[in-house]
Amino acid sequence: MKHIELVSNQFKTLDFIPVGICILREDFVVMFWNRCLEDWTKISKEEIVGQKITAYFPHLSQPKYTARLKQIFCGSPPTIFSSQLHKHFFPATLVNQKLQIQQTTVVALPNHEDYYGLLVIQDVTDMTNRLENCRIIQNKSLAEVEERKQAQEKLLQKTQEMEQRNLELIELNQMSELLQACQNLEEAYTVISLSSKLLFKELIGSLFVINNSQQVVEQVASWGQPKPSYKQFTTQDCWCLRRGQTHLMNTAYSELACQHLEPLIVESYCIPLIVEGKPMGIFHLGSTIPGKLTEVKQLLATNVTRHISLALANIKLCETLKQQNIRDALTGLYNRRYLEESLKKELERAKRKERSLGIIMIDVDHFKNVNDTFGHDKGDQVLKKLGGFLQRHIRGSDIACRYGGEELTLILPEASLENTRQRAEQLRQAVKNLDLDLCDHTLTISVGIACFPEHGYSGKALLKTADQALYQAKQQGRDCVICPPILDIEDFED
Ligand code: GH3
Ligand code: MG
Ligand code: MG
Repeated sequence: MKHIELVSNQFKTLDFIPVGICILREDFVVMFWNRCLEDWTKISKEEIVGQKITAYFPHLSQPKYTARLKQIFCGSPPTIFSSQLHKHFFPATLVNQKLQIQQTTVVALPNHEDYYGLLVIQDVTDMTNRLENCRIIQNKSLAEVEERKQAQEKLLQKTQEMEQRNLELIELNQMSELLQACQNLEEAYTVISLSSKLLFKELIGSLFVINNSQQVVEQVASWGQPKPSYKQFTTQDCWCLRRGQTHLMNTAYSELACQHLEPLIVESYCIPLIVEGKPMGIFHLGSTIPGKLTEVKQLLATNVTRHISLALANIKLCETLKQQNIRDALTGLYNRRYLEESLKKELERAKRKERSLGIIMIDVDHFKNVNDTFGHDKGDQVLKKLGGFLQRHIRGSDIACRYGGEELTLILPEASLENTRQRAEQLRQAVKNLDLDLCDHTLTISVGIACFPEHGYSGKALLKTADQALYQAKQQGRDCVICPPILDIEDFED
């Protein structure tokens, strides 16, 4: 004990330094305990010197401490119990009730034959806290930098999106202007397919319209690769037409795929073309890759469809008006003005191509009697049926007109005189077999024909010749076809 006191006195000067100093003997008995440690641990020098340190700090009897301390007592180089792994070597409570963080260095202190352990304990609470604060600030700064980077990326993305929307608007305007300049549906379909190709670059699509039967939906325009192969389907094959509203099919609704989709399509969007409240077709978009038919694209497609519906409705209206101008309302045949104009054009073509052209002029026999016997309405019905009959019995290039009253005229481009005569004869026969709902009355017609070049070079001359032949047919007792004799070139009036 005397010896312990001696050692304790020997190191007295270490009472004045601001680090904790403790000297341990091989048997873990405390030989020196400085004032700093007294302050920190509230254990006095008088109390602890001469006692085993483990009696006060039992955790130090764990092998992780004893093993390293024993090496020191054998004279090993210094060892450090770091503030990260051994924060509280001698637990000491601070004013804020938190434990002091310590960094402990143990040095072998020669003592005759053997060694003492000199424990130097530094209070690193402040430094550790500062470091921790620095770390927090650094992390915060890094997070802010990252946040700013993300915000910049978002801004860039937004700008690019805006630019894209702008381009789409320009293209949509362009399409709208072009559609307004279209003179017929065919031109409009070409504009739609070209514009849609630019507007929906990564998608494929088609425009379908419902045909006159209201049952079949036909493809009139398409764009993108692979080319949509469905050319027609029934209205029942499309969910959009069945329900009269847009239909989206994607991976979530794959079961609700329309029948008109290619097998490779994984996403599809059908929008009805509504004109005057009625569906007249669909605007269809599809994708073979998931995620391409975005909400933005769907919105754009809806916008495009609205423009298309309006434009098609306008063109249809114009076409109807044009038809009304050139067609006879009762029979649906062309009117006299149209006949005279097209006769001129057809004759020019015939002259250019050195082809013939036939004219058949028809007058219903005793039509007045039909009106008198069955009434004017029935007379109208008869004329209407005759109009339909003629339209069914002519070729696509022939032109059938109502010349006036119960007189009907046909222009047969490229028909020879003999062809024309035969066709006139066939018509005369066929009219007698028509079911006109006139009891026992059989309707007959008288027919006069004329041909280019045999009967004249001008439309006027040809019509006059046909008219004269018709008059002759009436004279000869009606229900017959008269073909006038071929004129010599000097007999031509024109
Ligand atoms: P034909 O030609 O054989 O000499 O005798 P027609 O009785 O047919 O000839 P006419 O020229 O005397 O009479 C033509 C009749 O056709 C008189 C007219 O009321 C009738 N008609 C002309 N246009 C129409 C029409 O749009 N509807 C009806 N119901 N009758 C019409
Ligand atoms: Mg007449
Ligand atoms: Mg008549």
